[in-house]
Amino acid sequence: ERLVSGGSDAVERAAEAALRPRRLDEFVGQQVVRNQLSLVLDAALARGTSPDHVLLSGPPGLGKTTLAMIIAAELGTSLRVTSGPAIAHAGDLAAVLSSLEEGEVLFIDEIHRLARPAEELLYVAMEDFRVDVVVGKGAGASAIPLSLPPFVAVGATTRAGLLPAPLRDRFGFTGHLDFYSNDELEKVLLRSSGLLDVPLTAEAAAEIASRSRGTPRIANRLLRRVRDWAQVRGDGRLDLAAARAALEVYEVDPVGLDRLDRSVLTALCTRFGGGPVGLTTLAVAVGEEPETVETVAEPFLVREGYMGRTPRGRVATRAAWEHLGLTPPDGASG
Ligand code: ADP
Repeated sequence: ERLVSGGSDAVERAAEAALRPRRLDEFVGQQVVRNQLSLVLDAALARGTSPDHVLLSGPPGLGKTTLAMIIAAELGTSLRVTSGPAIAHAGDLAAVLSSLEEGEVLFIDEIHRLARPAEELLYVAMEDFRVDVVVGKGAGASAIPLSLPPFVAVGATTRAGLLPAPLRDRFGFTGHLDFYSNDELEKVLLRSSGLLDVPLTAEAAAEIASRSRGTPRIANRLLRRVRDWAQVRGDGRLDLAAARAALEVYEVDPVGLDRLDRSVLTALCTRFGGGPVGLTTLAVAVGEEPETVETVAEPFLVREGYMGRTPRGRVATRAAWEHLGLTPPDGASG
């Protein structure tokens, strides 16, 4: 399992669920999106109607699923969850849509990965609250329109730019989640430590926050690893020494880069002379899917100034060479 970012199994999901804020006012940070969303929801509640469909974009672990759950909770309705990759055929989506109850929230994670026929079915459903059920095959096939109760679609995507315009246009509100500041992550950590009933010192919170890549999911995950360390190797207290020791065990470096980040930068510098190199070539070199490198490692590396994106490919900045303890060639920028 990758510690800092990566797949989540059942244990991980349960641990995450326990720390999820349930209401908008418990949700830390993202002030702009939170304000906008609370306006959209309050207005809908005041009118007694469903709000516009909501699209949430941003890197993994910043709170898109959490916000979808909060939207349902604030509207006093229930949430149905599906995802782009889980819908193999348009018929699967038609089945989900036709089972929705009035006012329910349908959360579609990784909506940019919906197959084209499902995507087309979805935007008709979002616009007209209707699905066309195809009966029969070939020349004798006919479409029977089935009307749906009003529902709220909440789509999540790591890249809003990947959504085709017709689908993107069906969302009345788009919220873009950005990386969290260290202060905000400290708040997330202190809240979580309270829920887990483990004493976390302010210094330890600051240390973990600064190594969490601006991401609450990572902050919570690191907190659990520090708790493990404190219980097994330490004296149970989550203080600065415990935080540092645990993070060293898990190879999270002082600026929060994990093994994938470092292997991307190392490949970029040592195998491709600092680039430019195409995303796919770079991904092959580190043995990952291009999408993983692009959505998991790259946004943070770019934001922190270790990597640049140019029309000709990815490039390492001077900071990347220095962080790896390598001598940059003369041309390295940044
Ligand atoms: P995403 O859907 O964007 O990948 P999630 O909504 O699953 O991210 O969030 C991952 C975890 O991070 C959640 O379990 C939650 O505990 C925590 N989290 C995310 N955003 C916040 C926040 N603003 N405040 C507190 N905890 C948060």
